[in-house]
Amino acid sequence: MPSHEVVVVGAGLAGQRAALAAVEAGRDVALVSKLHPLRSHSGAAQGGINAAVGAEDSVDAHIFDTVKGSDYLGDQDAIEFFCREAGPTVVEMEHFGTIFSRSEDGALARRPFGGAHFPRTVYAADRTGLALLQALWERLGSERFTLYDEWDLTRVVVREGAVQGIVAFDRKGGEFAEIAAKSVVLATGPAGRIYAKTTNAHSCTGDGIAAAYDAGAALKDLEFVQFHPTALLESSILITEGARGEGGLLKNRSGERFMSRYAPHVLELASRDVVSRAIVTEVAEGRGFSGPYGGYVNLELMHLGEERIESRLTEICDYARRFAGIDPVKEPIPVYPAQHYMMGGIGTDIHGATSVPGLFAAGEAACVSIHGANRLGGNSLLETLVFGKQAGLAAAAHAERASAPSLRASDLEEATAPLRAWSSRKDGEDPSLLRAEMQQAMAVHAGIYRNEADMLEGLRKVRALKQRFENVRVVDQSGVYNLNLTDALETGHMLELAEVILVGAYARTESRGAHARTDYPKRDDARWMRHTIAERSPDGPKLSYTPVAVTSYQPTERVY
Ligand SMILES: Cc1cc2nc3c(=O)[nH]c(=O)nc-3n(C[C@H](O)[C@H](O)[C@H](O)COP(=O)(O)OP(=O)(O)OC[C@H]3O[C@@H](n4cnc5c(N)ncnc54)[C@H](O)[C@@H]3O)c2cc1C
Repeated sequence: MPSHEVVVVGAGLAGQRAALAAVEAGRDVALVSKLHPLRSHSGAAQGGINAAVGAEDSVDAHIFDTVKGSDYLGDQDAIEFFCREAGPTVVEMEHFGTIFSRSEDGALARRPFGGAHFPRTVYAADRTGLALLQALWERLGSERFTLYDEWDLTRVVVREGAVQGIVAFDRKGGEFAEIAAKSVVLATGPAGRIYAKTTNAHSCTGDGIAAAYDAGAALKDLEFVQFHPTALLESSILITEGARGEGGLLKNRSGERFMSRYAPHVLELASRDVVSRAIVTEVAEGRGFSGPYGGYVNLELMHLGEERIESRLTEICDYARRFAGIDPVKEPIPVYPAQHYMMGGIGTDIHGATSVPGLFAAGEAACVSIHGANRLGGNSLLETLVFGKQAGLAAAAHAERASAPSLRASDLEEATAPLRAWSSRKDGEDPSLLRAEMQQAMAVHAGIYRNEADMLEGLRKVRALKQRFENVRVVDQSGVYNLNLTDALETGHMLELAEVILVGAYARTESRGAHARTDYPKRDDARWMRHTIAERSPDGPKLSYTPVAVTSYQPTERVY
């Protein structure tokens, strides 16, 4: 059985940065990923990465904007650490070879992003994620660690209160296998595919979050789900906030810049929860456009001129032309909000430590919490690098102290017995149908606006789907590249998380950041300045609450 000191699951920016830190600390490291590392969703990030590197900007301004953006649910001690690390992190990535865009004077170019007082988002045209991912991959150097590429994590094995390793499915080999480890870092990224309309790649199914939950780790604030205001109609492909940062305008059917009614000071550059609600309201009240793919508003770039649009928003032009038949140089882009980011995830401290000894997490799968109830654009790429490194260092230090892991053949047996039953059934549920029903239910019952009756109905549907999942059937009997099995594994993970989202959202009787309840429209600091913790129990998610760390900024009303 393979054994490593540190096993990092997930090879996006967070996983690669964790692996680099652990390799440089001298540990024997394995990187396990269901995709080739360079196919990770980090590579789809467009707009940029935040760092207060401009002369007019400051770390304090970045801290304040992040705290306010989080609707005061972010932990301020963690946010302070995060923002202080921003400048050195971006400069390090530059030294690793990331080709960032430059301004006329040769400095790192910065664009304005929502919720930020100054232009703070450093970028590489509208391909920032890919530029970072490639530079980090080269720096990591494939000869310095072991890569398990196209392996699906299915379980984290915990015994005697500590991590012993993982069980994973080797897609190419068609077998389940164990990998022993002293430390495991989960950097498995987003879970957006829980929703019908999402900007997230098909691989973003929350596997690591579900595996941590299954292993007894505490999840944090999962009810806070970010919807990005500008996704391309029909496909939900992201149109970066950088488009508004460059000067793009949002207009309704009467040609009105409607954001003037919702965020009079910063208009299109209010934070994402505010802009998404504005668009939904415009359409619901009949001021949007309607078409075969539902209601929408227009994002206009034409006034920026062809040269600027083509050079700064190259990918956006390509997506709009290819997937909507729209030329942004000549006509407006039809947009509507879609799920984009999970503020919540596996609860960690600033060193990536979870509630289970030896288990660490970083990146979008984790919740430190710096984003609180709403993440600012550009803070997530930064988070993957800052906390990926911390998790890698902590995992390396833990591995140095920990005794040898003890994985047994019975661990593999126990982890895979239910999965083998899926393939031996003669009759049962099709995982792809269960997945589609869950996605619809979550879109309708746990979307941008929420209320008690809707969420109860959503919970009823998700629990019924979980029951049907008990009888799921994998028809494909082959071992190698059995994507029917992958589909079933992912659907099972997402159903668990859908329930946690709904239970947490139902319990939180207030509106804060991305959690907007029509029946409780106000933020309630007296009762709800606290994090939701969800742990698995036989009766479903068991909730408890922990306080928010407040250092410099007492909560005040959040207006833009
Ligand atoms: C379209 C889009 C644009 C974005 N633009 C920006 C932006 O401009 N700025 C910004 O700050 N943020 C942006 N974000 C958010 C940001 O890109 C992500 O939050 C971040 O890149 C996530 O990085 P990660 O390393 O945590 O996960 P990912 O990059 O998604 O990597 C996850 C890794 O986990 C692996 N994995 C998953 N499940 C398993 C499993 N079961 N077994 C083994 N491996 C597994 C995958 O193979 C992958 O390697 C954007 C997000 C999207 C979707």
